[in-house]
Amino acid sequence: MARTMTETVPLKLFNSLTRQLEPFQPVHPGEARVYSCGPTVYSYQHIGNMRAYVFADTLGRTLKFKGYALRHVINITDVGHLTSDADAGDDKMEKAAAQSGKTAWDIAAFFTAEFKRDLGWLKVTDPAKWTVATEYVPAMIDYAKSIADKHCYELDSGLYFDVTTVPDYGRLARAATDEGEGRIEQIEGKRHQADFAIWRKTPPGESRQMEWDSPWGRGAPGWHLECSVMSSAELGMPFDIHTGGIDHREIHHPNEIAQNQAHECSAHTGATIWMHNNFLKIRDGKMSKSEGGTVRMQHLVDAGFHPLAYRMVCLQAHYRSELEFSWEGLQAAFVRLKRLVMTVSGLRAQAEPADAPGARLAPYLERFEAALSDDLNTAVALTVLEEAAALKKTDSGEKLAALAAMDRALGLDLLTLRREELRIRPKAATIAEAEIEAILTQRKEARAAKDFATSDALRDELAAAGVEVMDGDPLGWDWKLGEG
Ligand code: AMP
Ligand code: ZN
Repeated sequence: MARTMTETVPLKLFNSLTRQLEPFQPVHPGEARVYSCGPTVYSYQHIGNMRAYVFADTLGRTLKFKGYALRHVINITDVGHLTSDADAGDDKMEKAAAQSGKTAWDIAAFFTAEFKRDLGWLKVTDPAKWTVATEYVPAMIDYAKSIADKHCYELDSGLYFDVTTVPDYGRLARAATDEGEGRIEQIEGKRHQADFAIWRKTPPGESRQMEWDSPWGRGAPGWHLECSVMSSAELGMPFDIHTGGIDHREIHHPNEIAQNQAHECSAHTGATIWMHNNFLKIRDGKMSKSEGGTVRMQHLVDAGFHPLAYRMVCLQAHYRSELEFSWEGLQAAFVRLKRLVMTVSGLRAQAEPADAPGARLAPYLERFEAALSDDLNTAVALTVLEEAAALKKTDSGEKLAALAAMDRALGLDLLTLRREELRIRPKAATIAEAEIEAILTQRKEARAAKDFATSDALRDELAAAGVEVMDGDPLGWDWKLGEG
């Protein structure tokens, strides 16, 4: 249950701007306004991307747990993001369209739907608003007009932002400009390496699937402009928290900040706290869509895992730590989730959740809240939840009430997930569950009658169908489907 703000420990969050923990002090008392950079929908999001949304969702859930009224906005970038975060390369959407023979609009619709399905699997709460970039283009043009005179200059290729016109450009990145220089392709006429496109003109004689008329010619908005415009339109300036993956700390967010400062005529960066999740990596480097061969939620599900096992993987680590993905790690997280679901379903068989957790559970809720209030220490919060679940001689209804409150913050769906939903069940499996259960019943009878020959034969029959019988499994799972 949400607790009142006065009686509890203050929420501290790591602000990438200051590289320090800071108490959360909302711009509007009692409210939390959060903007999260969303996907570029030219391709599937991989499980590394999903870490960014599990993080943003855990932040949102924590804010609600602390009693704040949350307004969360996530954008869908369906135009303007180039193949490099700096101004180099092609527009990712146009490139995907050219390669697939589909329209950029169809591609955006398809991958947006895929993305939202993955979020649903992971119990990521729908934001109050999805902002779709192409729906804000007129607002982007107005915004660009308002900063063009003082902060921008026009070249043949587009309208560029002059980063020396705002205070302290790049403070968020903390990178000496030369660190970024190597990555930025030189654009003819650019005054400074870090200057970036606000508007990109369609080159003469060419046309794009997604283009609009503007005072600087036909073309498309720059990717950084989109987030400044959509966040200010939906949350007002300044708002509370801006999130994204750590790669955005280097170019995308410094550029958003520069635009916010120019537009608001203020040194304020636009959001009070900038938060970044670290990367999920697969052994030989970070997961990038352009590298190919990346792992998606669908692959986890096809291998028989429940999607929430991946949410558990994320919660076990601190969002600011790099996280290495492995199938063994996923399996271990899955077992941990199963144990919790088993405990909760045991409790549910005895009682309904009570209205309040009661005095015995109160210290656990306090420790749980203290952990989350310490820059979202979900790893510790999880262990507190497990301790509470294991408490002996405690009223089941009160325990369920406490676990439900904790789970609302962590999003593991513990009160509704059923044990049957958590069986390992690879896509390739052909045998029906009813058939497995029938054979297992026969086998139990054979064992009861000490007919071990029949029992072993039935076991072999199941093994031939890919079913592994797990006698003595401490989780009491009885069987699982193997790889084939
Ligand atoms: P993109 O669609 O590339 O704009 O990425 C969507 C979100 O995922 C952004 O917040 C990125 O910073 C984040 N992201 C990209 N790759 C990873 C990764 N390997 N691990 C964690 N977050 C990532
Ligand atoms: Zn953004």
